[in-house]
Amino acid sequence: MEAEIGIIGGSGLYSLLENPSETEITTKYGKPSSPVSVGEIEGRKVAFIARHGKKHTIPPHKVPYRANIEAFAQLGVTRVITTNAVGSFVKAYRPGDFVFMDQFVNMTHGREDTFYDKDEVVHISTAHPYCDALRKHAIDVAKKQNIPFHGTGTIVVVNGPRFSTKAESMLFRTMGAQVINMTQYPEVVLAREREMCYSGIGMVTDYDAGLEGENGIAPVSHAEVAMTFANNVEKVKKLIYGLIPEVPRERTCACKEALKGAKI
Ligand SMILES: [Zn+2]
Repeated sequence: MEAEIGIIGGSGLYSLLENPSETEITTKYGKPSSPVSVGEIEGRKVAFIARHGKKHTIPPHKVPYRANIEAFAQLGVTRVITTNAVGSFVKAYRPGDFVFMDQFVNMTHGREDTFYDKDEVVHISTAHPYCDALRKHAIDVAKKQNIPFHGTGTIVVVNGPRFSTKAESMLFRTMGAQVINMTQYPEVVLAREREMCYSGIGMVTDYDAGLEGENGIAPVSHAEVAMTFANNVEKVKKLIYGLIPEVPRERTCACKEALKGAKI
């Protein structure tokens, strides 16, 4: 079995694929979060992994990030499109808005965040961790579909599973980040180590621990995240359906050479 594009997202996206068939993949980093569903969208071969497992039983700090990316690599995937619920620190990034990430700040700890931890020393550049080409295609599609979006965004990735304190939330905002979640790291850098294009599509579900100087905004709760995401899952699907046919078959971006000059 093979696929060209890999999608990692919530289990609500299982129904995305046409003619799906499930395959159990084992990698040298273990099993991915879920069986990999492989099917088609608009004539393109697409694989799907439910990041938190089919029944949402895997917390963010326990997601087998390496196995997920390696499973895609085994299928021949060169593009990874991911969907994420994100919290917002700034008023302009409102619940329901899409954010096409272009930078991250890693605040996680203890995660296995490289494929190169023995025998070989590799330093990839993450100056531009996300694929700019995929981000631009996503922007075009969002414009066409008339959905509210932000074409850039810096995401802070925290370890979780708890949400932020007010003080942390304030700190992250002063760092210049707009949004936050628990799963973008190390997914994005592992994809880069496999020279895949990676796109992080965030959906704002809440205002994290509240907004500075804004009264009446309650701190984030899991119930709020789940409800906002569920209300917007159709929009996410529509965006992905629009995006996939726009992805050029040939890659001209620099992602495919991420390892060039990175190996000692
Ligand atoms: Zn790329």
